[in-house]
Amino acid sequence: MRKDSWNQKRETNQVMSFQRTFSDDLAREKRARLRAERLYEQVQRELLAANERLKAHAFSLSHQVIAQREELSAVRSLAEALKGQHSQVSEDLHAAHSRAELANTRLREAVETLIDGFAVFDANEVLILANPAYLDLFHAFPEVRLGIRYQRMIEICAYEDLVSLEDWSPDDWVEMMMSRWTAAAIDPVDLHFTHGRSVRLVDRRAENGDFVSLANDITKMLEYQTELIEAQKRAEAAAEAKSAFLANMSHEIRTPMNGMVGMAQLLVETDLNDEQRNYAETISKSGESLVTIINDILDFSNMDAGRLELRPEIIDLEKTIHDVMIMLAPAARDKRVELILDYDLFLADPLKADQGRLRQVLTNLVGNAIKFTDSGYVLVRAIGVGNTAHGHMINITVEDTGIGISKANQDRIFTEFSQVEEMANRRFEGTGLGLAITRQIVAAMGGQIWVESEEGIGSCFGISLELQSEPDASARDIVRLDPSIRSVLIISDHLISREIIARRLQATGVNTLTATQIDASVRQIAKSRPDRVLLDQDLSAAAADVVLSGLAEHVPGTPVVMMCSNLLSAQSLRREKRIAAALPKPMLWRDLVCALGAPEHDSATCAQAGTPAASRPEAQHEVLRVLYAEDNRTNQLVFSKMLKGLKLDLTLAENGRQAVARFQELRPDVIFMDISMPEMDGREATQAIRALPGGAHVPIIACTAHALRDEIDRIMAVGVNAVLTKPLSKAELIKALQDHAPAGSDLTSP
Ligand code: ADP
Repeated sequence: MRKDSWNQKRETNQVMSFQRTFSDDLAREKRARLRAERLYEQVQRELLAANERLKAHAFSLSHQVIAQREELSAVRSLAEALKGQHSQVSEDLHAAHSRAELANTRLREAVETLIDGFAVFDANEVLILANPAYLDLFHAFPEVRLGIRYQRMIEICAYEDLVSLEDWSPDDWVEMMMSRWTAAAIDPVDLHFTHGRSVRLVDRRAENGDFVSLANDITKMLEYQTELIEAQKRAEAAAEAKSAFLANMSHEIRTPMNGMVGMAQLLVETDLNDEQRNYAETISKSGESLVTIINDILDFSNMDAGRLELRPEIIDLEKTIHDVMIMLAPAARDKRVELILDYDLFLADPLKADQGRLRQVLTNLVGNAIKFTDSGYVLVRAIGVGNTAHGHMINITVEDTGIGISKANQDRIFTEFSQVEEMANRRFEGTGLGLAITRQIVAAMGGQIWVESEEGIGSCFGISLELQSEPDASARDIVRLDPSIRSVLIISDHLISREIIARRLQATGVNTLTATQIDASVRQIAKSRPDRVLLDQDLSAAAADVVLSGLAEHVPGTPVVMMCSNLLSAQSLRREKRIAAALPKPMLWRDLVCALGAPEHDSATCAQAGTPAASRPEAQHEVLRVLYAEDNRTNQLVFSKMLKGLKLDLTLAENGRQAVARFQELRPDVIFMDISMPEMDGREATQAIRALPGGAHVPIIACTAHALRDEIDRIMAVGVNAVLTKPLSKAELIKALQDHAPAGSDLTSP
């Protein structure tokens, strides 16, 4: 606007000058005006252009300003944010610092208050941290403080007698302790300081090269340990003393019991009136129960002391069961209770079990079955119920037709000292320990025991065991029946017995006929003449003698085998050749096959009758010579009376020395050797005899009043063939003779 007015003013001036030089100047003026006008236009254009540029510049400037403002405000807010962050960071830093301080303080205090020593050594093995407990171990050595080297500390321990070095020399100990630190894994080591404290050093190498050493205080622990060992020793000594006391007591009681029971048994067999017999029987039975009680208590106290160790060996299971039944047979015979064994034909492999313990279990179960049964039978059945990875699962059941046990009492009877307190039971003696012991043995063998029973009907006790089989061990000699024997007539009143025998014979292809008495037998004979007759000694309707005569009439010459509950009474029949063989009931399958008739090639096996021939010396004398070494006169008497009636020559010796001398003079076939004797005991005598010419193989049967298993093992270890525990029973004695006398010995009286 100001520029416009300026231009106008200049134009006005030009017009006034023009008027003065109007003519001349008119053209010039006109040109000038034109020039001016052009200039004006140009200036105006330039002005416009400049204006435009200015505007554009201003526009771009304003843009820039806006952008810069925005940038500025962003920067400002960033700065603000950073400012906030900075203060947060410093707050956090402060808090972290405080926390670190606190943790450090806590850690230091904790390390300081530790009762265990704690120390850190740097990579140069210089002590850089140690709590008071650590330094206190070296309290008498002020140089042990921060800055000391590890090696110096070890040297102080070794050379200043600070640590007990046991068998180490100080130099070796220092070397051992130093090399320990360089090992890849540092094992803990126990240090016993001579000032009384003991520590377990647990050292670790940290990642930065430091060594962290923890000295656990084990002083108290070692004290407790020593006390515990002392207490254990005292307890073991007490248990030992208890066992020794029990063993001695049992020995002391058994020795006179041998006389009492033996004499009472012999007395019963003499001519007595009813009243006298009753008294003698009561003495005999009470004596026997007393022995059972002693055995049970001795056994129980041993098990209580945790001494139930099993010694599995290869056994003949059928024979083991049979032996137990034969041993208990006299008790069953007295009550006319039939004893039957049913052994699974297919259990042929030799099996492994602790024979002694298994016998103990069976003796208890079969003994109870006989004790609680007044009539009927006791049937022992062994069946294989399946194969396992290592052997066979075997069930052995003992079934009786006795008084039975109520449901309520069935669980109780397996616990210690429990007996059924009912009218029916009152008359039976016992400790109530037998089944508890049996249960423990079965459990130790990894097996199970159970009972099924009905009052007034009977009981069935069962055990199931997994027995390892030993297929590589020499299998039992299997004898087969001579193929010429096609049919067997079984005459017996006992249905179960008959059926079991019949089933087993049928399984071998033999035709069986059964009968209960001579009339029925004759009817059977009429149908088919049997090749052999198996006759039960205990027939109810007629005496076996009568049946024998009938058989001789109807099937003359047919061999008759008699199944006997009383073997001795059958011997005269054998001598008279009225029977071909007599077998004790229950029968071993092999014995039955041998008695009925085995093929020629099995005759040697049959002759061995249970004991390997190699271990049986040849019979040397026509009449069996038996030597019995025993210092106690009563026992000598009982022994000789028990063997009375058998065909043998008995010589007595009063001590081991005499026994050795008698052995050399007489060369006996069997020796019975008491263990506790004056001058020379049974062990020494056995060893002396074994060392003499011809003494290595003579059967020596030890007799002892010690019933502890360990003691029996010690006796077996001197080389005896068997051990009998006192009081001796007639059945055991005869069985031992039958088992060990030379093959072919005839014990029957002339
Ligand atoms: P005990 O020495 O008294 O026979 P056990 O532990 O062997 O002790 O038996 C405990 C009880 O179980 C016996 O007293 C008897 O009441 C009962 N019992 C065991 N076996 C039989 C059985 N076969 N028949 C009936 N009762 C039995």
